[in-house]
Amino acid sequence: ASMDADPPLGRLMRARVVGNPGKGKAVIYWMRMGDLRIRDNKALNHASAQAQKDGIPLMVLFILSPQDYQAHARGARRIDFMLRNLKSLQTSLADLDIPLLIIEETERNVIPSRLLSVCEKYAVRALFANMEYEVDELQRDISVCELAFSKGVRVVFEHDKCIIEPSVILTKQGKAYTVYSPYQRNWLSVLNSDIARYVEEYPPPTANEKCVRSLKLFSDIFESETPRSVDGFELAENDKVKMEEVWPEGEVLDRFLSTKKRSSQLGATNPLSAGSEKCSKSSRIAKYASDRDQLDTDTTSRLSPYLSSGVISSRECARAAMRLKKASKVDGDRSSGIGRWMQEIAWRDFYVNILAAFPRVCVGRPYLEKFSAVAWENPQRVGSGPADLQEDAESVQRWKRGMTGVPIVDAAMRCIDTMGWVHNRARMITAMYLCKHLMIDWRVGEKYFMETLIDGDFASNNGGWQWCASTGVDPCPYFRIFNPYSQSVKVGTGFTVGASFIAELSLQADPNGDFIRHWVPELRGVRGSDLHNPSPALADKVGYPRPIIAHSEARERALRRYKNPGDL
Ligand code: FAD
Repeated sequence: ASMDADPPLGRLMRARVVGNPGKGKAVIYWMRMGDLRIRDNKALNHASAQAQKDGIPLMVLFILSPQDYQAHARGARRIDFMLRNLKSLQTSLADLDIPLLIIEETERNVIPSRLLSVCEKYAVRALFANMEYEVDELQRDISVCELAFSKGVRVVFEHDKCIIEPSVILTKQGKAYTVYSPYQRNWLSVLNSDIARYVEEYPPPTANEKCVRSLKLFSDIFESETPRSVDGFELAENDKVKMEEVWPEGEVLDRFLSTKKRSSQLGATNPLSAGSEKCSKSSRIAKYASDRDQLDTDTTSRLSPYLSSGVISSRECARAAMRLKKASKVDGDRSSGIGRWMQEIAWRDFYVNILAAFPRVCVGRPYLEKFSAVAWENPQRVGSGPADLQEDAESVQRWKRGMTGVPIVDAAMRCIDTMGWVHNRARMITAMYLCKHLMIDWRVGEKYFMETLIDGDFASNNGGWQWCASTGVDPCPYFRIFNPYSQSVKVGTGFTVGASFIAELSLQADPNGDFIRHWVPELRGVRGSDLHNPSPALADKVGYPRPIIAHSEARERALRRYKNPGDL
């Protein structure tokens, strides 16, 4: 509560421009794992401008910290994706005569002092970085400001992650929105009222002028290689090869916007795109409003790994949407593909706002505190970090392996396990199943998604999990308990109540069962409704597990426990 009363973002905003005159001989841009690009990167652009103005070299710094990744339950796939992008950035930067210094094996609590010792070594005049909005990161950056001040280094932290930075879109009472729809309306009108500013493109850095490569102090940096892996986050070789094929490093926005079939990344040979030919006649974005809920086809942008790691900026998505529409404002019409897609980008901003305004959600707390007492089947051990979660329950293991006996859940979980990604609808189905059918603490699922997804992003993941567990801002009410059998096959019966919600979900997630058949080979030969809800005899025959719990029993248990948190 005290954290929420004086959120760390506010403290960093007060501390962030350390106004030292700065006497050094170089400028540093400190790149972090969420801004892996050189084009349209605000802090890098400003660092470059400063270096040019002062006539001194610009260098880029990246600090690796396995301990930090561990603490945040980062996954090996996301780390591998980061290293691959860093490697290609290293080459692009070297072409501009800008050195990329990578510091390995840094313990998380010494990052500020390590950073400042680098500043001393290279006589740094000014340090630029884009903000990260998680509590630990903000607190770390506040320490950086304090240390930098004492060392005479000028520090500038920029907002770059969102189209509209946190704390701008506020209610009439000056509070953060906790309901998405009014937030989104306000977001759109603020955006369009100052469109040039919010979608401004920041050009890549200008090449260093003084042939930095030949300067003794910097020349070694150009010789060093990007590490191939980080200790404790090594990917198995076959997974690495697959991730490289499915999620290549570099910018991929055009794949979503173009009318061409997906290339190797998501083409017909790729298991993610079973039955995706539908999209070949017009671009996916054109059909996004009508098709986006179907998880058996290739309907969404699949840009989340690139947005989470900052390989593309969200501003770029807005600009692309405007270009496509040949419009000077962002379209907010949810019935058009482009308008609907921009609403998803607004969700991303919304959840970052929530982190900034209610930092307690960063430390394992539900936004709706009353649900902190829900009786889970796996009560948390003392403490609230990821390590304190009990994950050994058999049901958790079966959920992770895609062996729950519920075909749509298992297909989704196996897709995540294999591809490091799954469609939003599948995330909702499987997340709600874990919390409400299996009554497993949502934080177990949140952590598993972070560890396994290539797009693992704290704000969106926490927001998604708290929505499904009914503990978050603007959540699905606790009594809406998704029926995973009917959701995949029948129109509009996915949730137990709520006419408007049903209309929203009236598209069938997997009408022909293609998604299930692809990911659950045991059921490949099954036709008709049995595929979505196999009888015990059929399950036994094909070697598919029987469900852990019957839907009606699970539903009653969840209703009872959510209604009276604390009671068993
Ligand atoms: P598109 O439909 O093409 O949308 C474009 C972009 O908008 C996405 O790339 C993403 O950046 C953003 N976006 C879309 N939907 C959401 C949403 N509901 N919330 C926030 N941003 C959104 N997204 C992540 O990036 N990382 C996560 O770790 C993550 N975990 C999730 C966990 C759960 C339980 C749920 C329900 C959702 C989660 N999401 C997460 C949000 C969403 O599922 C993915 O962003 C989306 O599926 C990515 O596919 P896409 O790029 O094709 O999205």
